[in-house]
Amino acid sequence: MIIKPSIRSNFFTNAHPLGCKQNVVNQINEAKKYPKFKGPKNVLIIGGSSGYGLASRIALAYGAGSNTINVSFENDPKGSKTGSAGWWNNIYFQEFAKETGNIHKDFVGDAFSLDMKNEVVKFVKENLGNLDLVIYSLASGGRLNYETNELIRSHIKAIGEEAEGKTIDIIERKIRDLKVATATEQDIEDTIFVMGGSDWNDWIDILDDHQILNHRCKTIAYTYIGGPTTEKIYRGGTIGKAKEDLENHAKVMNQLLKTKYEGEALISSSKAVTTKASVFIPQMTIYVSCLFDVMVRRNVHETILGHKYRLFKDMIYGSNRITDQENRIRLDHLEMDEAIQEETIKLMTSSTNDEILSLKGTDMFLKEFYQINGFEFDNIDYEKEVDLDTLSEKKPY
Ligand code: NAD
Repeated sequence: MIIKPSIRSNFFTNAHPLGCKQNVVNQINEAKKYPKFKGPKNVLIIGGSSGYGLASRIALAYGAGSNTINVSFENDPKGSKTGSAGWWNNIYFQEFAKETGNIHKDFVGDAFSLDMKNEVVKFVKENLGNLDLVIYSLASGGRLNYETNELIRSHIKAIGEEAEGKTIDIIERKIRDLKVATATEQDIEDTIFVMGGSDWNDWIDILDDHQILNHRCKTIAYTYIGGPTTEKIYRGGTIGKAKEDLENHAKVMNQLLKTKYEGEALISSSKAVTTKASVFIPQMTIYVSCLFDVMVRRNVHETILGHKYRLFKDMIYGSNRITDQENRIRLDHLEMDEAIQEETIKLMTSSTNDEILSLKGTDMFLKEFYQINGFEFDNIDYEKEVDLDTLSEKKPY
């Protein structure tokens, strides 16, 4: 099969297995260049097949020699369907990580379910004994409520009044104006149910009940704060409410972990990067393009892998933690630097659409968006047939 990019509403409906392999290799090669550090022995990552979760997994497996368990929700290849990028990322991570000599395990299924939690508990008991770190890096548009059997959807909506913004139409490479509708109370509640902290808390409770959290164990989830240009749509909108809920759950879990294990529950505010989830948020595409442009010019741009490596090496297991008054780790301090924000906002507000489209930062963002789905790698011949039947025999577990 010849696999060409297929995008619908800024969402890839396919992935190129060999390009996903390249994406994983690139991150592994980058991690190998960085100094090793003393980190956690056993790590559970919920949402470790792509974006920040995958970068965390690679940073820890290679930087700290950690054993990793990943729970992700991905589609396997079937017939003419290529399978999702995360499916192939899991496969190729497993394939390469054999060289670490450590244990790496994948569970593919619904992290929100009790069955999945029990399966992971069983695996930890039988193979690792206990966990030193639990990373919650899940991003989802929906969550099945197992009590009512109802699928609850999250929403990207503004609160109070409609918000206006712009987005890049990735296929047509055009900028479009957009209006983001006002959320109802139900929309807010549903978004909190999907993207808030209750499921993270359920994971920690079940791991605690089964006594498989190690002394001094830590748990961390990733939030986003951002600046004024994304405020109405992100932090001040439905997603922002879910993030507040996530941050509140961290405070509750922190008490438990501190008293029982001398451990901690942490929130890291991470920088805006190109992921499947971030591209979905209106205005973020333009903001990320302008931000990349400014950060590269000012020599402070970090890759997704470099960002997470720095989190674990310096701020979680090192002594260079930067926190705010809410005790959130501000890994995003370079993005939020006043001069960077000022220049990014100026670029966003004073440039014409054509000027934004011709920025180096926009090229970089668009290329990364294709690459996280396995496309636009220079060393891959995209005209060549991919033997999907043979590749489909590979399983990530
Ligand atoms: P992503 O889409 O790349 O990854 C999401 C992960 O969640 C994948 O591994 C996916 O398989 C998994 N997942 C989704 N539904 C699942 C389910 N039901 N069961 C099991 N796994 C499931 O997203 P990302 O951008 O890396 O986001 C991860 C976290 O980082 C989110 O909390 C997000 O808000 C936060 N964050 C992202 C950015 C950014 O710019 N992308 C910035 C700051 C914080």
